[in-house]
Amino acid sequence: MNLYNASRCEYCARIIYKNVSGTYKLCSLKCKNYFKKNKSNDELEKFILQILSKGWNEINVIFSTVNNIDKFKFISAIGRMVHFDKTLKTKSKNEISMRSFISKVKK
Ligand SMILES: [Zn+2]
Repeated sequence: MNLYNASRCEYCARIIYKNVSGTYKLCSLKCKNYFKKNKSNDELEKFILQILSKGWNEINVIFSTVNNIDKFKFISAIGRMVHFDKTLKTKSKNEISMRSFISKVKK
């Protein structure tokens, strides 16, 4: 893990301003609760890769096509894929939001 990743929450992948966990890097109690329930979410990540079309996809638009997925879980998985797994990339350098555009990284 490099320094760039060291400053990011292990759940939502946003930059951490205050770590709320001793063992992991987590930015908020919300992330801590989600993280406890679901440390990794490979199924969701695979699913996200499947539903993305070629080129840039707005997160809002992809999210509107899925059912029964928690919004925070969804956007956090995307954040981890962008910042940790590097299977996705974003159009802008800002933190990921529902209005961000993402694209698959070609291997
Ligand atoms: Zn977080």
